[in-house]
Amino acid sequence: MARTRPHYGPPDASKSPRDTGLPPYPPRPASAAWDNADCAAIGAPFDPATSFRSGPRMGPAAIREASLLLRPWHPALEVDVFGTLSVVDGGDLDVTPGNAERTTAQIAEGLAPVIDAGTTPLVLGGDHSIVLGELRAHARKHGPVGVVLLDAHADTWDAYYGERYFHGTPFRRALEEGLIDPRRSLLAGMRGSLYAASDLDEPRSWGFEIVPCDELRTWTAQRYGERVRERIGAGPAYLSFDIDVLDPAFAPGTGTPEVAGLLPHEAIAFIRALAGVSFVGYDIVEVSPPYDGPGQVTALNGASIAYELLALSAVAAAAAG
Ligand code: MN
Ligand code: MN
Repeated sequence: MARTRPHYGPPDASKSPRDTGLPPYPPRPASAAWDNADCAAIGAPFDPATSFRSGPRMGPAAIREASLLLRPWHPALEVDVFGTLSVVDGGDLDVTPGNAERTTAQIAEGLAPVIDAGTTPLVLGGDHSIVLGELRAHARKHGPVGVVLLDAHADTWDAYYGERYFHGTPFRRALEEGLIDPRRSLLAGMRGSLYAASDLDEPRSWGFEIVPCDELRTWTAQRYGERVRERIGAGPAYLSFDIDVLDPAFAPGTGTPEVAGLLPHEAIAFIRALAGVSFVGYDIVEVSPPYDGPGQVTALNGASIAYELLALSAVAAAAAG
């Protein structure tokens, strides 16, 4: 494909050993060449809005290190991810440790130039409170977006300890702010104990479709893909992946683990069933390296699932020519 602009992507690991690709010492600013990037991985190293175990502020660094293994060709979707897409690491967004409300504003502000340039952000969290700032940035450009969420929790609670900006509340705040369209949203993977039945009945009454994990596991990937397409229709849609949708055997490094979750191959099959859908943005959140297991398995799953998200954009870009 003839190109008239710089193309960014990872080095070829068959020529440069992966250990040569580690972050520079001392660190230096990452690229902000949004005009030349189709997608940008951007960290949001923030975690004070967790309700139990913290640590996702170290998620972006761990996901980046685990991403060193990624290769360009995606055999299942038959797409050259890094050849089709120009992908930059956009560095980390500014955050304010201890202040989720202010961080939400910083994230929205930091993503605005990325989105205005037509670059698709892939945000590496961070606890899930960061998605509110992302949704502000996307809604500013696109209007209310449909949300495709894979998460053990619906994150539609009202407040924790009196705090309204928390990792269990972002989709409720986003609804209140008019950033998302619940009737074009599908939240799936919910499981574990709740405070009350209303925890899921309330968001359903607002228009969200909620597919608990036990039900989701009876769905084929094809059915999931069809249902998501039915829900989001032709309007803008956003995909958020909370690593705790995976079973803690595969993602122990997270703040609020729930047993009996998805296996990695199930989650990946659901994502691949969305090939052809054009999302305005993605995130992968709640990777908590301090609680990770041997081999940094959570970070590896995080980096691998982030690659699956990029592959969705690559398929959409390849189809668009
Ligand atoms: Mn979540
Ligand atoms: Mn969760």
